[in-house]
Amino acid sequence: MRHVVAYGSDHLAEERADVEQIVVISTGGTIASRWQGSGFAAEARGGDVVATAVVPEGVSVRVVDLMSVNSARLTTAHQLTLLRTVREVLADPSVGGIVVTHGTDTLEESAFLLDLHHDDPRPVVLTGAQRPLEAPDGDGPRNLHDALLTAASVRDLGVLVVFDGQVHAARGTVKVQTLATDAFADPSGSRVGDVGADGVRIHRRPERPTPLPLPSAAPPLPRVDIVMHHCDADPLFLNAAVEAGAQGIVLVATGAGNATPEISTAIHEAVARGVLVAVTTRVPTGPVAEIYTHGGAVDLAASGAVLTGTLRAGQARIAVLAAALASTDPAERVDALRHVLGTPGAPAPGTRA
Ligand code: ASP
Repeated sequence: MRHVVAYGSDHLAEERADVEQIVVISTGGTIASRWQGSGFAAEARGGDVVATAVVPEGVSVRVVDLMSVNSARLTTAHQLTLLRTVREVLADPSVGGIVVTHGTDTLEESAFLLDLHHDDPRPVVLTGAQRPLEAPDGDGPRNLHDALLTAASVRDLGVLVVFDGQVHAARGTVKVQTLATDAFADPSGSRVGDVGADGVRIHRRPERPTPLPLPSAAPPLPRVDIVMHHCDADPLFLNAAVEAGAQGIVLVATGAGNATPEISTAIHEAVARGVLVAVTTRVPTGPVAEIYTHGGAVDLAASGAVLTGTLRAGQARIAVLAAALASTDPAERVDALRHVLGTPGAPAPGTRA
């Protein structure tokens, strides 16, 4: 088999095995959903999902039925099970790549968690659908075909999201449409490539920090909460998260990362208690930045919060979660968070004297 893979201006089509074995890990979502009498829910097994798609020439598929849930119901435990399953599948050298079928609601979170720990040149490609399994105009079959083709064709790109003919890096990609089929984009960046009848075209290589080691999945898993700022907001919910035992908190601030002096004080107190606090923004595009005081990002950073660049809330939370899973030491957690954010000069996790 020789699929056409174009990397930028270089055509680096790789010789791969005659038949590429791709493992599809099925987790549920709309791509596996059927009518339940009052609404749709994930139900179908992976084999039923794969049966809807044309498998690209030269690809053989093995299915792992991991779970069948709507992705809004996923927990950290589910996501760590997925991470471990990916590792186990890739331990078999005859596997050429992995496709994960996943609900679109939280696909960006699982994709990013996998990407932060992915240390293998073989691709992991997440896909799903906006329309249910048996919809006559369903987008699942095409997305699954494209994901299989991508998984059988590329190397060294980390974890990818393939949807509606587009190839996205896990990092930075978010769900941008509630219903339309072009559901994913990186609002602050550009996509990695395109996939269609003529093969996979790669425009850029995603920047990825050194992968984190596989974390322990032993309970208790760290609680990481998200709190959104808005007009009239006080520190009540941020403090409630601390009282609930949160080991990490993501503040979804306004603008370029701004809140109030009271929230800045609450962050200072949370950080003093060992809580890892990160700041992202409600704005869809662009980075958070230290510009404003009087409760702005200048003050939040001075209080010990870490600004998360262009990561939006769901992935900022995953970055905090990964840091919390990487160490129990608050200072090492900050290092780990800066590492996964790609902060220049950030020490590698676990390298503090
Ligand atoms: N509610 C679904 C889910 O995320 C939506 C989808 O898959 O598109 O599981």
